Amino acid sequence: MKKTRDIIIIGCGPAGASSAIQLKRMGFQPLVFEKNEIGGLAVNANLIENYLGYPKGISGVKFCSLLGKQFLNHNIDIRFEEIESAEYKQGNFLVRSQKGIYSSKYLIDATGTEPVIPKDVFIDKKADRKVFYEVSNLSKVKNKEIAVLGGGDAAFDYSLNLSKNNNVSIYNRSGNFRCLDLLLQRAKENKNIEIFKNYIINNITGQDKKLKLNFNTIRGKEKSVIADYVLIAFGRKPARDYKIKNKKFFCIGDKINGDFRQISLSVGDGVKTAMRIYNLENE
Ligand SMILES: Cc1cc2nc3c(=O)[nH]c(=O)nc-3n(C[C@H](O)[C@H](O)[C@H](O)COP(=O)(O)OP(=O)(O)OC[C@H]3O[C@@H](n4cnc5c(N)ncnc54)[C@H](O)[C@@H]3O)c2cc1C
Repeated sequence: MKKTRDIIIIGCGPAGASSAIQLKRMGFQPLVFEKNEIGGLAVNANLIENYLGYPKGISGVKFCSLLGKQFLNHNIDIRFEEIESAEYKQGNFLVRSQKGIYSSKYLIDATGTEPVIPKDVFIDKKADRKVFYEVSNLSKVKNKEIAVLGGGDAAFDYSLNLSKNNNVSIYNRSGNFRCLDLLLQRAKENKNIEIFKNYIINNITGQDKKLKLNFNTIRGKEKSVIADYVLIAFGRKPARDYKIKNKKFFCIGDKINGDFRQISLSVGDGVKTAMRIYNLENE
């Protein structure tokens, strides 16, 4: 086991990164773990228009690249390892990755959310590798037919993003959309996006090099469509629960923010948590 650190932060999205930067500025030496890339989920955003400092808005890719630069400028210790378990034992937190066990006095869980994978939709093995849950997996795809399943903000944001280089069809299971009207209007005006209501996905199968999507409509009819890729946006749920209760354990950002999942709120959580830790240390 490595020597005990001040603070371990799991996740380097907006919540984890902002708390790490604030802690470093206050004299702590946080150790951050990230299983993918610095920046987190925001890399999927088509255009971030509600985070201050970017008067014309900013793409998620650019935002995460700038966030990464800012983070790395602070010389914060980061390891690209997935944390598989965490617990509190004899006065310290112990976190485990495949590479080792690390210990700390404080633990911040900023691991965000994971996609909801539909259990009632059959996806056969041939189709599986062309079905995705985040748009970042399709960022290099061009001139393809993409079916987006869902009717919330993410489904529409993904579609606007993909429509720059592809034809996109959005299939929503009901007649109502749960997205910002602004996104719905932009999609309606986009010649590369078609919107279908009352399409309930049943199964997705691989057909030669394409995918066949079979739907039921609310009138009981079956409909099939062909696509190159499928992107499922059926919502997100909190990432793995470490089940720790301790005043030196903090769970922050999207993971605990329910429906209020926004960069500004995650950043606020990160900074506030850093300041709380500072106060606890200086009580
Ligand atoms: C399509 C889309 C568009 C969006 N548009 C906007 C927008 O315009 N404005 C806005 O404010 N918000 C937007 N959001 C929401 C925004 O992306 C999130 O609110 C924000 O990223 C949450 O930050 P977070 O740090 O709490 O979590 P995340 O960004 O999810 O970061 C969590 C990090 O933890 C890492 N991690 C998870 N588990 C582990 C583990 N076990 N070990 C190590 N690392 C781990 C993940 O890899 C990830 O990097 C959008 C989201 C999506 C999907």
